[in-house]
Amino acid sequence: MSDETTYEVLALRYGTMTERTRRDNFIMADDHASAMPLDYFVWLIRGGGRTILVDTGFDPAEAKRRGRQLERLPREALEAVGASADAIDTVIITHLHWDHAGTLEHWPNARFHLQEAEMAYATGRCMCEPVLQHPFTVDHVCTMVRHVYSGRVQFHRGDGRIAPGISVHHVGGHSQGLMFVRVKTARGWVVLASDSSHFYENMEQRKPFVLIHSLEDMCRGWDRLYAEASSPKHVIPGHDPLVLKRYPAFSDATAAFAVRVDTAPLV
Ligand SMILES: [Zn+2]
Ligand SMILES: [Zn+2]
Repeated sequence: MSDETTYEVLALRYGTMTERTRRDNFIMADDHASAMPLDYFVWLIRGGGRTILVDTGFDPAEAKRRGRQLERLPREALEAVGASADAIDTVIITHLHWDHAGTLEHWPNARFHLQEAEMAYATGRCMCEPVLQHPFTVDHVCTMVRHVYSGRVQFHRGDGRIAPGISVHHVGGHSQGLMFVRVKTARGWVVLASDSSHFYENMEQRKPFVLIHSLEDMCRGWDRLYAEASSPKHVIPGHDPLVLKRYPAFSDATAAFAVRVDTAPLV
């Protein structure tokens, strides 16, 4: 592995929510009544002998509790593209929301990377407030605490390096310790925004998503995404169904849910 290493990056859809309107996705003036489905993704980064997972999705119990459709477990999506759960050496958790930190016990050989601000937020006084607590699930947070005590967590404060050509960047906004991931690929620097921009529309039209810790940090975060990517077309939003339409399929067999975002978009 050297500074010349470039990585393969896959976006893998594991769930969806079709019964959703724009009201659920945007604050401020908008055509709130029209439909706007939201997809759930994890992201796989491979190269230089490393196999890295970004976020861990949710499980069937969580899907039922929250009324979402789980199409496949994240680890099953990974197996379909040739990455076993055992092969994952690193898990980057962009933030601890229920749809990003839900299968933390499925990766026996991984170290977990997390912003210390996110752990402080998810275990601190803000969780006394039901509306702020709502996007977290206490069992997920407790599992991460156990990973801390068993020596499997590496905390970051601000920006951090994961491997040559892979870094994490703290932006906050949507959750206090939210971070995005920057990866060197053959087409340049790709940015996995996660919930720094749920949809293309959030960052492109500067329309805030409904779940907010700091609106100011959310707006600054959009600028950070663009600043760290080789072009606007190198930024991958966290929940947008358009990602599966814009990027080439990993294979025919997995075309419904796996695309290569390290290659140029089709449109
Ligand atoms: Zn979130
Ligand atoms: Zn999310």
